[in-house]
Amino acid sequence: MKRNNVARSLENLIINKNLTLKDAMDKINQNHKGTVFVVDNQEKVIGTLTDGDIRRLLLSDYGLNTRIENHLMVDFKYIMFGEDIESVLQKLQVKYGKRIKIVPILDHNMRLVDCYESEAYTYVPISNPELQGNEFKYLVDAFLSTWISSTGEYITQFEEMFADYCNVKHGVAVSNGTVALHLAMLALDIGVGDEVIVPDITFAATINAVLYVGATPVIVDIEEEGWCINPIEIEKAITPKTKAIIPVHIYGQPCEMEQIMRIAKEHNLYVVEDCAQAHGATFQGKVIGSFGDIACFSFFGNKVITTGEGGMCLSNDSRLIEKIRLLKDHGMSKERKYYHTVVGYNYRMTNLQAAIGVAQLERIEQIHEMRYELEGRYRNGLLTSKRVELQKNNLSNRKKIVWLVTILVDDDKRDSCLSKLKEEGIDARQFFIPLSEMELYKEYTFSNRISKQIASRGISLPTTRDITDETINKIKDIIG
Ligand SMILES: *Cc1c(COP(=O)(O)O)cnc(C)c1O
Repeated sequence: MKRNNVARSLENLIINKNLTLKDAMDKINQNHKGTVFVVDNQEKVIGTLTDGDIRRLLLSDYGLNTRIENHLMVDFKYIMFGEDIESVLQKLQVKYGKRIKIVPILDHNMRLVDCYESEAYTYVPISNPELQGNEFKYLVDAFLSTWISSTGEYITQFEEMFADYCNVKHGVAVSNGTVALHLAMLALDIGVGDEVIVPDITFAATINAVLYVGATPVIVDIEEEGWCINPIEIEKAITPKTKAIIPVHIYGQPCEMEQIMRIAKEHNLYVVEDCAQAHGATFQGKVIGSFGDIACFSFFGNKVITTGEGGMCLSNDSRLIEKIRLLKDHGMSKERKYYHTVVGYNYRMTNLQAAIGVAQLERIEQIHEMRYELEGRYRNGLLTSKRVELQKNNLSNRKKIVWLVTILVDDDKRDSCLSKLKEEGIDARQFFIPLSEMELYKEYTFSNRISKQIASRGISLPTTRDITDETINKIKDIIG
């Protein structure tokens, strides 16, 4: 079975020298490799032809019906079957350089038996940072200023700009999103004996922050439509010990903040928004992060905007902000150097990171636009299939942003889709595993009926600017 597959895929890579440029283009179109190996009538590989070669020939006025024979690249690189690995590796690295994506492996009769493919060629990453604006300029500027550590103008600028963007009074830049959550717990004096309600679907940092301070997390179910924490379940899970709720705006989707804030007010609970996946999403026209007592953001490399590693706490309460500032900087007294008033942490961001952050924030609208557009292309490409359900983007009151384009497929097909995508070099990811399904956290489960069903169907697709229609079609073929 396996052999057959190999044979079939090799068949897609070879073309007879007597055929035409048009035939070669068809073949390349099928094999997605950007090249074909040209064989003679004895099936000996005698040269190669890439899509670039064909383009150049067409531009030099050769017609599509031109025979390949006289135009193939005869000076091609190949590996002899059985050649020792050292020499192969050396060839691939030194002689061939990075530009060779695919190299034929030939037997002694020069017949194709296999091929070597460099990973870079087929790999479609799940995300990559958008750094085409002033990122490099500001980074160099920060570097040349010698303020490369955790004080500097970019820090203050980034904090002010970001707080402003979210319509919140104050911001404190920190080393990452996880410590932002930890600091929020500390600032609100949440600790042993307190319960904190978290959604079953999130990245583990949310629940870990609760555990860091010795409090007890209470995991509740999500809503079927929005995939965010379900306000009804929050209300059911409240006990006299409940002290806070951490709504997570998951996959760019804002939570039902009106109901959550009403419940919090009624029961006198704090709200810490985990905004790590939804910079700029809005609920009733109000930017997320501006609802709760404290909002926590992440600027990790795969988030909507990034500083490499980084995070931020936002709050309108200057008392909480002062506390967070103290705690992130060793708990050291502002008035008296080296005099410590609380057990603090070193959770600071560097000026270099903040410089990148300022440049990212300048372009956040463009970045959102690019992501909406990409999601639109996926929607057009995938919606024709009844078996695929895209994340809802039209829930009332909520304007989501696109973080990772995420879809649901049939339960029993999900894992095979993921492994087929992987085989094609497409880095798709499974949905977050519900916290309640992990040994480490399951004792804290209150409810998880919907989260279980949805998570086992979810796939996040590569969400980067340069996804080609070809990749989208390939994905459609696999999951549709
Ligand atoms: C990424 C993420 C975090 C953690 O942020 P880091 O910067 O990676 O520490 C926390 N919560 C959620 C929901 C996240 O997606």
